Amino acid sequence: MIGTTGPGIGDAARVAQLAERWGRLRERVAAAATAAGRDAGELTVVVVTKFFPARDVRALAGLGVRDVGESRDQEASAKAAALAGPHPDLRWHFVGQLQTNKARSVARYASVVHSVDRARLARALAAGAAAAGRELDCFVQVDLAAALGAAVDPARGGAAGDDVLRVADAVAAAGSLRLAGLMAVAPRGQEPARAFAELVAAAERVRRDHPCAVALSAGMSGDLEAAVAAGATHLRVGSAVLGARPGAR
Ligand SMILES: *Cc1c(COP(=O)(O)O)cnc(C)c1O
Repeated sequence: MIGTTGPGIGDAARVAQLAERWGRLRERVAAAATAAGRDAGELTVVVVTKFFPARDVRALAGLGVRDVGESRDQEASAKAAALAGPHPDLRWHFVGQLQTNKARSVARYASVVHSVDRARLARALAAGAAAAGRELDCFVQVDLAAALGAAVDPARGGAAGDDVLRVADAVAAAGSLRLAGLMAVAPRGQEPARAFAELVAAAERVRRDHPCAVALSAGMSGDLEAAVAAGATHLRVGSAVLGARPGAR
């Protein structure tokens, strides 16, 4: 179910709330960049709009947001279709666990897929992109739990160990896909800085064979400062802009 914006809040109030939170987030990202000695201009902020209605995405687009993230194909494809007319310049990022049989649909509207974690999925995305006459930027999602000695959460997805290299090779070898770099979610209960250091180490291994894979998708509402310090290029931020997700998971 797509959530509502909560009881008692009208459209104008919601737009004002999103404007305020988006403004504060941009200040937070700028401060994180300054603290890390980096230029905020090299950071792409993807606003993750999952569970929130298309009118929120429309409001965000009106505020200048260009990159939006979604985690479920059915919801994402409906919103992308709704926004294609008024905001054709929006870039859709798919950030969630993706079943192979949904790859063809995702390839029709997404510009970037952050959650490629198996070679079979890479091949399905490539076939879908080719059929749609499109190119997709892909991140290989890394499961950091094992490397950190944390409990593996299968619902999170991600490749581990040498599988990361195998998936990267599959993306690079597939026509219609570009290997952007690596993505991870810091495992629950782990120090984000330690988690992102593991991601950076995995990215260095991948770049020995794929020197162009320089992007790093890391950092969410709770840990974006640590991600920026570690060298993230893409931040995926949901609740800091949209508020708590209805029926959050
Ligand atoms: C939902 C989600 C986010 C955003 O999380 P927040 O904590 O709300 O900022 C980022 N990345 C992925 C993969 C997500 O599923």
